Amino acid sequence: MSPHAPDQAETTERREARLQRGRLEARLAQAQRLETIGQLAAGVAHDFNNLLAVILNYAYFVREQLPEDSELRRDVDEIRRAAERASDLTHQLLVFSREEAIEPEVLDLNSVVREAERLLRRTIGEHVRLVTRLAPEGCRVSADPSQLEQVVLNLVVNARDAMPDGGTVTIETARVDAAARRNGLPESLPPGPYVLLSVGDDGVGMEPDVMAHAFEPFFTTKPKGTGTGLGLATVYGTVTASRGEAEIESTPGGGTTVRIWLPEASAPGHGE
Ligand code: ADP
Ligand code: MG
Repeated sequence: MSPHAPDQAETTERREARLQRGRLEARLAQAQRLETIGQLAAGVAHDFNNLLAVILNYAYFVREQLPEDSELRRDVDEIRRAAERASDLTHQLLVFSREEAIEPEVLDLNSVVREAERLLRRTIGEHVRLVTRLAPEGCRVSADPSQLEQVVLNLVVNARDAMPDGGTVTIETARVDAAARRNGLPESLPPGPYVLLSVGDDGVGMEPDVMAHAFEPFFTTKPKGTGTGLGLATVYGTVTASRGEAEIESTPGGGTTVRIWLPEASAPGHGE
């Protein structure tokens, strides 16, 4: 890229532009595919949620009419537990497809991580070490607080699942001024100030074909009954609703880092 070799510089630039266009097109195709799946999922989830509400209500009525010591009462409780779990799942689906009302507010990502951390220390188990490196200054983003917390939880739970023999999960936050399309800003985002959340692990990593589908709802490599395939789909839905982007960097056997870019909230004139 020497200024004394304009021809060569142009060729390099043109080549880079072509590659970038290719990457953008691939991302767009991926986004459209997710959008379509999301719409389908939302349609089912709505009807399903209504049916679940009926099941939950009637299970409750039946329970109330049974004597305290009735064996049937325990059976009805099982029905209710299963229906509640199903209801949580459809709730996640609606978040993914952005059908759920989101109530964004300006909040500090660092506080969200700290909140989640307390919960996580209890749930991730003793063999997994949790390290947090939070930006010294506040990381203001506009998002729904409970959904953002869910993003952190989903990512850390995935990291834990990827390290059956233990390891380290690192949660990092940073303010990134990607003003001139530097600092690794994804191509789909306009330049500007961003807040970056990374969750890294030294677990099993992902094969390329797993990585290509990881954000899709219902895509899971986990045994039946454990994975729902909704974790990353929900992350993706939340992040894109806040006009951010989610990226995966992973090597089979070499760990995974998921990066979440969110526009910094205080910045005026974000977007186009
Ligand atoms: P689930 O966790 O229910 O399987 P997710 O949407 O959270 O669904 O993840 C989808 C798939 O992506 C996982 O089944 C797994 O194969 C892969 N994956 C996600 N996070 C990681 C990670 N940190 N390391 C390795 N694989 C991962
Ligand atoms: Mg998951």
